[in-house]
Amino acid sequence: MGPLGHFAVGLAAKPAAPKVPVGVLLLATVALDILAIAFSLAGIEGPAGTPLPWSHGLFMSLIWSVVAAFLTANLYQSRRAGVVAGLLVFSHWVLDFFTHPIPFSTFSWRSWQWVYGHPLPSDLPLFFRGSATVGLGLYNSISAVKATALEIAMFIVGAVVYATSIFMERKHRRSQST
Ligand SMILES: [Zn+2]
Repeated sequence: MGPLGHFAVGLAAKPAAPKVPVGVLLLATVALDILAIAFSLAGIEGPAGTPLPWSHGLFMSLIWSVVAAFLTANLYQSRRAGVVAGLLVFSHWVLDFFTHPIPFSTFSWRSWQWVYGHPLPSDLPLFFRGSATVGLGLYNSISAVKATALEIAMFIVGAVVYATSIFMERKHRRSQST
C-alpha cells in the first residue's frame, strides 16, 4: 500500500494516543518502508519488487513493532503510547499483506482499458530469504486509479477522525478552564 493509506491509520490512531505527536504516529505507520529504503541503500535487501525479509518479513515486522513500542513507551513515559506505536508499525504489514504484490498498471489508449502489470509473485516473506511469501494481491487486481482512490478515501476518513479528536480535546480543555 502507498503512504496515503498507511498515514490514514496513523491519523485515526491519534485519539488512542493523545500524548504522542501526530508526526510520530505517521512515522510509525511507514517505518517499515523507511527501513526498506535504508536496507536497500545499505545493500542488505534487494531492489523493490523482490522479497524484502529484513523490512517487510512477517517475523522482522513483529520485531520492529516491539522495538517501536518500547522506544515510544520510554520516550513518552506511557505504556499506552508504546502499544499504539507498536500496533501502528505492524499495521503497515497488515495493509501490505492485503495489497501486495504491487504491479504498476497502465492505461492503454488503444484498447481504452487498464492494462495490469505482469502479475508478480507475492513478495512478503514470513521469515527470511527462501521462506514462504504471502500477500493477497489486491493491487494486482484493481487499477492504479482505483488503488489511489481507495487510499485517498482512507486518508479522508483518517483525517476526519483526527480533526474530530483535536476539536473534542480543545472543547474539553476550554470547558475545564472556565
Ligand atoms: Zn511497505
